Amino acid sequence: MTAALLQVQGLEAFYGDAQALFGIDFELAPGELVAVIGANGAGKSTLLKSLTGLVRAPREAVHWKGEAIGGLPPGEIVRRGLALVPEGRRLFPSLSVEENLLMGSLSRRAGPWNLRRIYQMFPILQDKRHQPGTSLSGGQQQMVALGRALMSNPEALLCDELSLGLAPIVIREIYQAMPQITGEGMALVIVEQDVSLAQRVSRRLYCLQEGRVSLQGACEALSRDEISRAYFGIE
Ligand code: ATP
Repeated sequence: MTAALLQVQGLEAFYGDAQALFGIDFELAPGELVAVIGANGAGKSTLLKSLTGLVRAPREAVHWKGEAIGGLPPGEIVRRGLALVPEGRRLFPSLSVEENLLMGSLSRRAGPWNLRRIYQMFPILQDKRHQPGTSLSGGQQQMVALGRALMSNPEALLCDELSLGLAPIVIREIYQAMPQITGEGMALVIVEQDVSLAQRVSRRLYCLQEGRVSLQGACEALSRDEISRAYFGIE
């Protein structure tokens, strides 16, 4: 078996006194596409934030390429090659599309992704490159957020609910880009509310429920019933 790129063991996370994650174990191999599913409030965003330094994690709970990185500052984690596309896109409102994309390259990692490649993947962004990022449609803003994260040339990209609030045709367009991304050997984690979509595009999935992993395994080996039970917590 390939050595894990990312290995998470017994991860707990808190917001003040409120505990949101209770001992999560999670693994990601190089080039793998893994989905994380779960109902609202299950802890999906908190997991991604804990892995990227936005929510505090104990140092030893998160290993990246064999090194303990839990609790490092977000910038340091991006420089090591682990990037996040945050929920809600979070573009810089005063910057153009192109400036937003260039913000992603500040980590100065070498790799295949640059403005030209992003524009090839999403040509509409080249047409609108001088417009303020936040003036674009929701789907186009999601393309900018994805492109910005790719500009840091990560080895693993964590995507938080890319499809949230988007029309099916736009979701399809964004997910069609995934093979181009993993084709470069990059590992991807996608958080998705749409379970069928998650199962279609990924090989393995984790289901979270109330801050715990309620189910995990290869998508093809998991039945619809099993997934529904783990998702909704029905015994
Ligand atoms: P959603 O699909 O709604 O984004 P999620 O699975 O991503 O849900 P999280 O956002 O990770 O879930 O939330 C996990 C738990 O942590 C929930 O109980 C939520 O209320 C709580 N939580 C999340 N963010 C905060 C915060 N900033 N302060 C306090 N509690 C929070």
